[in-house]
Amino acid sequence: MNTKGYAALSAGSDLVPFEFDRREVGAHDVELDIKYSGICHSDIHQAREEWGPAIFPMVPGHEIAGVVTSVGASVTKFKVGDHIGVGVFIDSCGKCVQCNKGLQQYCEEGMTGTYNGYERDGKTVAMGGYSNRFVINENYAVHVPANLPLDGVAPLLCAGITLYSPIKHWNVGPGKRVAVMGLGGLGHMGVKFAVALGAEVTVLSHSPSKEADAKAMGAHHFVSTKDPEVFKTHAKSFDVILNTVSAEVDINQYLNLLAQDGTLVVIGLPGKPYAVHVGALLGARRSMAGSMIGGIPEMQEMLDFCGKHNILSDVEVIKADYINKAYERTVASDVKYRFVIDGSSF
Ligand code: NAP
Ligand code: ZN
Ligand code: ZN
Repeated sequence: MNTKGYAALSAGSDLVPFEFDRREVGAHDVELDIKYSGICHSDIHQAREEWGPAIFPMVPGHEIAGVVTSVGASVTKFKVGDHIGVGVFIDSCGKCVQCNKGLQQYCEEGMTGTYNGYERDGKTVAMGGYSNRFVINENYAVHVPANLPLDGVAPLLCAGITLYSPIKHWNVGPGKRVAVMGLGGLGHMGVKFAVALGAEVTVLSHSPSKEADAKAMGAHHFVSTKDPEVFKTHAKSFDVILNTVSAEVDINQYLNLLAQDGTLVVIGLPGKPYAVHVGALLGARRSMAGSMIGGIPEMQEMLDFCGKHNILSDVEVIKADYINKAYERTVASDVKYRFVIDGSSF
């Protein structure tokens, strides 16, 4: 079916209007009108080949919120008119240990990404959410609570789940001192979830102008990392640090902010290796860990949590012709706090 979107035709080139065909709705598929599509920094990394060779033309986008317009004959999970979300993957093997645990993002055969990859037939290039419609197997989409507006919901499908999952895994809650590195799309969701779960929340930011926003989101403390002194005054202060920074940083400075037995969870993916001083780990039995998005059951849990606590992303809604400018502003940390494309503008 004919689909209108925006694509990068080669690495680093501006995105341009692009038409392509999606598959017809199969027995287990649902079709949706995309209402809003978030711009994740991962889209920029991939469109610019900052993570290695990529597939072009590339239609990025893996924060998709829409409305179901048709369902296949065997579909039971959705009906026409439902609000629906699609995230970073559209498929997985469905039978390995991780898939059986609902951790499809860690599928042993590899998850099937929403774009910049091939579908499980090994030949169809997956085209992402910067487009006006989508087709997906019902088992890889989630229900969006009816009380939530879809523009603020779209970023939950990647930024939201990517912070919710480690926050749950590392038991962030009452009595835990948690720091969020970087107040961008991911970071601002981390602040909202950690605050809602009752933790003591600090934002570590290199943008002093974001202090008022961080406090308005409920953060208890704001630390400007522009001042090198803060790495001394806040040494050994946090039980968990969630690193959402998209650029290279001196990770050792941040490891030293962990208290005894603390964990720094790497979430940001600048594309270059971190140089870790082992002394920064063993001096206080600290851990450095990683976390990648979340599986389908946890995505649903996260959205239900957002519905109950009225948690949304702070978004700036744009038209498709602003995507290239939005990329520039995101890279310059000038986003409050997620750009979301209006699906009717493709
Ligand atoms: P974003 O909106 O651009 O936010 C990144 C934030 O990092 C910026 O707002 C800024 O916050 C901080 N930052 C940027 N440059 C910096 C620098 N030079 N020094 C210090 N801090 C800097 O990006 P995002 O969409 O949240 O994504 C963040 C990262 O997570 C990206 O690398 C993305 O690919 C990755 N990601 C990972 C997963 C996963 O599953 N693990 C999922 C999605 C995205 P301040 O202005 O507050 O300092
Ligand atoms: Zn993402
Ligand atoms: Zn699997």
